[in-house]
Amino acid sequence: MDLPPFETHAVDNQPPPFAPRDLWRDDLALREAMAREGASAFSGRIAEYGALAGSMLYELSFDAHRDRPRLRTHDGSGHRIDRVEFHPDYHAIMRAAIEHGVAGLSWAEPVPGAHVARAALSYLHYQAEPGSSCPLTMTHAAVPVLRRESGLAEWADKAAAPHYDPRDVPVAEKPGITLGMGMTEKQGGSDVRANTTTAAPVAAHASDPSDPYLLVGHKWFFSAPMSDGFLVLAQAPGGLTCFLMPRRLPDGARNAFALVRLKDKLGDWSNASSEVEFRGARAWRVGEEGRGVATILEMVMLTRLDCMLGSSGLMRMALAQALHHCRHRVAFGKPLLDQPLMRNVLADLALEAEAALALSMRVARAVDAAPRDPAEAAFARVATAIGKYWICKRTPAFVNEAQECLGGNGYIEESLLPRLYRQAPLNSIWEGSGNIQCLDVLRALAREPATGQALWNELQLEGGPAYATAIETLRAPLQGKAPIPEAAARTFVESLALALQASVLLKAANPIAQAFCRSRLATPHSLAFGTLPPDLPLAQFIARAA
Ligand SMILES: Cc1cc2nc3c(=O)[nH]c(=O)nc-3n(C[C@H](O)[C@H](O)[C@H](O)COP(=O)(O)OP(=O)(O)OC[C@H]3O[C@@H](n4cnc5c(N)ncnc54)[C@H](O)[C@@H]3O)c2cc1C
Repeated sequence: MDLPPFETHAVDNQPPPFAPRDLWRDDLALREAMAREGASAFSGRIAEYGALAGSMLYELSFDAHRDRPRLRTHDGSGHRIDRVEFHPDYHAIMRAAIEHGVAGLSWAEPVPGAHVARAALSYLHYQAEPGSSCPLTMTHAAVPVLRRESGLAEWADKAAAPHYDPRDVPVAEKPGITLGMGMTEKQGGSDVRANTTTAAPVAAHASDPSDPYLLVGHKWFFSAPMSDGFLVLAQAPGGLTCFLMPRRLPDGARNAFALVRLKDKLGDWSNASSEVEFRGARAWRVGEEGRGVATILEMVMLTRLDCMLGSSGLMRMALAQALHHCRHRVAFGKPLLDQPLMRNVLADLALEAEAALALSMRVARAVDAAPRDPAEAAFARVATAIGKYWICKRTPAFVNEAQECLGGNGYIEESLLPRLYRQAPLNSIWEGSGNIQCLDVLRALAREPATGQALWNELQLEGGPAYATAIETLRAPLQGKAPIPEAAARTFVESLALALQASVLLKAANPIAQAFCRSRLATPHSLAFGTLPPDLPLAQFIARAA
């Protein structure tokens, strides 16, 4: 006999599904930043990717993330294969990203504004699926390094090409490739001079860059190990040197490196990060022997910009989830969005997210203009370190606050927030952890006075009393008249970052600019989110973000 159904309760007062949604159309701050920073010509394509990222890519991201990559060291017969298998949705996401130019647009179409447009793509992509952003970023950032060697033109061109080909075959057989990098070793990551991996020239008197070297040693972190090639630092006879190490040799043979195991990571699960041993792996020199750090520096600047964009994207996605929930969830008789204290939290998050994006896109314009304009090159050099430090540092606290807006649901995997939360600390750790960024800012100011001048020029504008006071404290250090002690570097770089964010908002006459100055530059101000002065037009800030 069928039992009658027991109606225990009606499902009520839960928000509708978040997606599909159009991440471009919903994001006024992004649209304004694109126009402001000179990438309007690309709007149509970015709009297309924003719609895709908020629908298909968002959907695919769940399985790509849940079903983690697996390492297969050997095949069934016992031959080494050193392959990582991914969920098919990971490949679908990578294909869409590469075909839309997330890795290569700025190199494939090198016109003014292309770096800004690619920055927008990177920001949108990170919102949908941050794990795959790692190989996309490294592929993008490796191109200018590879272009230093004419013999590696095929590599550079294929990395910039809008084709994804995950087959494990030699580069000559592929229309498009991806790249990784290997710097960090067990005994030292930040201090790469401690690298012990050696590179011995195969020929007794190697002088031509096409002469191969043999690498022997290890890397403790080696992400995206299915990439077609890797920029690797190793000790050559002339000192620490940058090398391109292919996965497959031109004759099709596996190169002599072994993937030891995959890292069991806090988050970033769709992306594989490995430990690797080089057992006489063949590699070609990029740049001069002994100039490894200088050679790879351009790549590092670009990856730092992507860390800024990625963390800005995480903030935006966390904010969008929080706004969505609070609009639909009623507590104590009215939607959370209409509760004054929740409004303060959401408005404060909205300010933070927009300021992060605004600075990231301003820096993307500097990267874009750098080849044509030395002042912009100097600005990009130092602003990537400043922005990476501050934006990435703010993201974990930001995502946690957004989680709290969802209450218990924000701690449960079916909401996106736990995934965002696990991802949030990564950008501040890799590509130079916080202290390293701050020390790099001090180094740049001390050794390259043009960087201090570029920052000072950038800050010159009329922004009201809080802004004026804030930048006055920066005058002497930026003009080289008051060196900052190492132990004070974080305080100094934070002040610089806030002043730069304020300056971008002020220059744009952005309606949130004065609220940003009052809440971040004026003293005293509170430290937690949700502590904006209550007389500010909070509802207006929320409407702008929503
Ligand atoms: C998921 C993931 C993927 C990664 N993928 C790659 C990859 O593909 N390729 C690669 O090469 N690396 C990769 N890394 C490594 C990453 O870049 C390093 O972990 C990072 O640069 C820090 O190096 P470390 O771990 O050796 O820490 P350390 O260098 O030991 O630093 C530890 C701490 O000390 C601080 N510190 C260091 N020196 C100073 C100083 N002089 N003054 C004050 N503080 C200091 C640092 O800021 C850091 O906070 C990855 C890391 C992670 C987590």
